[in-house]
Amino acid sequence: MKRPESERGFTLLELVVAITMIGVMTGIAVPRFLGLDESAEAAACRQNQGAIQSACNMYLLDDANPNPGQYPGQIGDLVPRYFDAEPECPSTGRYAYDPADATITCGDAGHRM
Ligand SMILES: [Zn+2]
Repeated sequence: MKRPESERGFTLLELVVAITMIGVMTGIAVPRFLGLDESAEAAACRQNQGAIQSACNMYLLDDANPNPGQYPGQIGDLVPRYFDAEPECPSTGRYAYDPADATITCGDAGHRM
């Protein structure tokens, strides 16, 4: 049975495909629009800084520490005992490390702890 041209609409399959495509595009666009992908990087960076800080505290008390009672001279001294590789900011920031008190700050201002 053929319907007249004025009564034709979309098939169920066409509607499902269109709604799915709108959903996928919204799922990609909305987090970017709200800046959620940026905050995920900031959270990962803060977690890295916390892990470095914890490793420095363990290093301070470690029997394998070549300078007992002192924090590592640089973050690279924590490799390979505490990290497989030197932790890096997941974004473009670089870590600044102060061996006097083992404070770590990221060069990216939005990643400060
Ligand atoms: Zn960072």
